[in-house]
Amino acid sequence: MEPFISNPNHKQPERFELGSWSLLIPELSVGFTGRSGGVGEAPYDGLNLAYHVGDNPAHVLENRRLLAEELGFAPESWTCGEQVHGTNIAVVRAGDAGRGYQSQQDAFQQTDGLITDVPGVLLTSFYADCVPLYFVDPVQRVVGLAHAGWKGTVAGMATAMVSRMEQEFGSRPANIHVAIGPSIGECCYEVDEKVMAQARLALPEEGDTTEPAWCSPSVHEGKTMLNLKELNRIIMIKAGILPTHIECTTWCTSCHPEFFFSYRKQNGVTGRMASWIGMKER
Ligand SMILES: [Zn+2]
Repeated sequence: MEPFISNPNHKQPERFELGSWSLLIPELSVGFTGRSGGVGEAPYDGLNLAYHVGDNPAHVLENRRLLAEELGFAPESWTCGEQVHGTNIAVVRAGDAGRGYQSQQDAFQQTDGLITDVPGVLLTSFYADCVPLYFVDPVQRVVGLAHAGWKGTVAGMATAMVSRMEQEFGSRPANIHVAIGPSIGECCYEVDEKVMAQARLALPEEGDTTEPAWCSPSVHEGKTMLNLKELNRIIMIKAGILPTHIECTTWCTSCHPEFFFSYRKQNGVTGRMASWIGMKER
């Protein structure tokens, strides 16, 4: 069953929420935005949430404010990283809340992963096909969010997040729950051999399997359909996450332009959805 669900009672700004995780921490809010319900104009219509794509910054700020308030967070608690397709992770302390909210310049630089144990902080990151990875440790009350395109995935972003939660907060992998959010699916994500060679290195012991579970042949010569969600799922299990603690979406952002911005579908000029996770203050 699809874990990211659009609630008909609160449609705007459009969002798909992972409501089942409120069983883990009642104050938890976690999900992924759609493209409608914001103030942006074409080609960023309407709920673009990222500054770096060329949209009017005032529209982006207004969209962020709208979303934070709908979610029950102070807009000034919106916190994000620069996102460079790397594996750097920042631990967000109370004094860091709001970094990146009003401009890209004070976001955590060269950072694709964020972790916090501070209630009231809203962690966010931005997408138009890449894979959002969500983490929660209900025992230590820690949440995390990571942006993983193919580069971050094969560089081991998922494993790095689990390790950092262990180091910083004493999280045990067996207690961590993970979700893999809306992103481009195997149906639409055709890659060349250069990407596939890197992907095989991410799971070296499975490298000689002729047909791994995370890809399938393309109709085009020399190309492969890559399943980044499944690749991340397998990497998470190797990092010690229990298979029963992993939620994986069925949403493909490229198949649904009515709901999502897609970098590939819209030839690179488009808005960005946001993933978010945070614990509301009690
Ligand atoms: Zn698709």
